[in-house]
Amino acid sequence: MKTSARLKASLAILTALALPALSGAPAAAAAPKKPVKPRTIVALTFDDGDATHVAAARMLQRHGMRGTFYVNSRTIGDDGKLTERQLTALARAGHEIGGHTLNHVRLDELLPDEQRTQICEDRRALMRMGHRVTTLAYPFGAVNADAERTARLCGYNAARTTAGLRQWGCRTCPAAETLPPADPWAVRAPGSVREDTPVRHLKQQVLNAEKAGGGLVPLVFHLVCDDCGLYSTTPERLEEFLGWLQARGSRGTVVKTMAEAVGGKVRPLPAG
Ligand SMILES: [Zn+2]
Repeated sequence: MKTSARLKASLAILTALALPALSGAPAAAAAPKKPVKPRTIVALTFDDGDATHVAAARMLQRHGMRGTFYVNSRTIGDDGKLTERQLTALARAGHEIGGHTLNHVRLDELLPDEQRTQICEDRRALMRMGHRVTTLAYPFGAVNADAERTARLCGYNAARTTAGLRQWGCRTCPAAETLPPADPWAVRAPGSVREDTPVRHLKQQVLNAEKAGGGLVPLVFHLVCDDCGLYSTTPERLEEFLGWLQARGSRGTVVKTMAEAVGGKVRPLPAG
C-alpha cells in the first residue's frame, strides 16, 4: 500500500509537470501520424532481362516503386536483351538485379554439377558487374530438391518459383506467401502474367492478399510491349495496374523488391 501511494504521488507530479508543456505545444508540432504498418507487400518481378524492361522500370519509378529484374547473365547485351550498362542504370535507380541462371535452362533436368554451374556462375558474373545479387528466380519455375540446395549453396537468400499462390488456376492455394517465406528456396507466386491476363486479375491478387491478412505477393512479368507474345503485358495495362497499386498505399499495401521483402545480407559465393 505504501509503495502504491508513493507511486500515485509520483505520477501526479509527473502529470502536473507534463501537462503545461503539452497544452502549450503548437498544433503543428503534434506527433506525426503513425504510418500504417505495411501488411501486404507486392514484389514486381520481371524475368529474362528483356530490353523492354528499361521502359517498365521507368514506369515503376514514376509511381515511386522499385522492381526486381531477373536476368540470364550469358544473354546480357544480346539482341532484344538488356545491356550491362542498362543493368547498371537499373541498379543505380534502386531496382534489384537477381539471378535467373546463365542460359535460362530447366534446372530440374540438370545434374547437380550442371545446376551449380548455371546458378553459381550466373550469380558470380552478375556480382562481378557490381550487383548485390541475393535472390534467384528458377527459369520456367522448374525446380527440384537439388536445385533448391544449389541455390542455397551458391549464396542466395531466397529463390522465386512461378506457382503456389491463389490465382484463376488454383482457387485453393493461399493468397500470399508468408514473411519470412515458408520455404525461402521455393517462394510462391501466382502464375506468370500473360497477354490475356486482364488488369482486374492483377488487382484481385492484391485484394485477395489484403483480405487474407497480408503477406508477400510476387507478381511475375516477362515482356512489356504490345502484341509481343504469350508471356507479355502491354505498357497500358502495367501503367493502369501501377496507378491502382500506388493508391493501395493508404491501405498499408506497399511495393518492395524481393531482396527487401525477404531480407538478409549479401552472402559470399562458394570457392571455385
Ligand atoms: Zn525466365
